[in-house]
Amino acid sequence: MPDVTVLDEDPVVGVQLAALRDHTTTPEHFRHHARRLGSMLALRAVQDLPATSGTVTTPLGPAPSLGPGRTIVAVPVLRAGLGLLGGVHDVLPTALVGMIGLERDQETLAARRYYFKVPPLDGAWVLVLEPMLATGGSASDAVGALDAEGAEQVTVLSVVATRKGVDRILSDNPGVRIVTAAIDPGLDENAYIVPGLGDFGDRLFGTPH
Ligand code: URA
Repeated sequence: MPDVTVLDEDPVVGVQLAALRDHTTTPEHFRHHARRLGSMLALRAVQDLPATSGTVTTPLGPAPSLGPGRTIVAVPVLRAGLGLLGGVHDVLPTALVGMIGLERDQETLAARRYYFKVPPLDGAWVLVLEPMLATGGSASDAVGALDAEGAEQVTVLSVVATRKGVDRILSDNPGVRIVTAAIDPGLDENAYIVPGLGDFGDRLFGTPH
């Protein structure tokens, strides 16, 4: 799989993304579309996951079967990443869950980690759920911390990214992969993605911006 996969020509992904971008979408519907997109991003991220093989018995006899050959761990970056978690579990129900809390220093705009709790990651395939890759600072911090715990593969699942954010994550973390629904042209003076979709966490939970 390539380091960066952009699903911007996939019309099924496009329907979900358009609904998330639409400023009239309510939090109730925003959660629904975020969950669906979470499933689509997760399926793409694990398409070359090593498999275990076995046998299942159908009413007519034995048939070969496959299953995941690695522990999968989903790690939402609080709080926006929670919007993708249900959709990841819809398609990867055995995924374990870690959590990372990061907040942006309002002066330096740098990410500060205030919470980190993850299951054992040795040899695991980790999906970092960070919907908006603006400067890439918070996702890059998260990926570095997860790599240090021994993950075999770390993939960032994003809804909207910028080229700057993607480049930063790739240059800070060799071997990381990114799967995103879109790469948008730029950032405004407050590091919001333009045109983007606004503040993902606020739109997900209905908090005022
Ligand atoms: N976080 C968001 O929620 N939206 C952006 O545009 C950038 C960061």
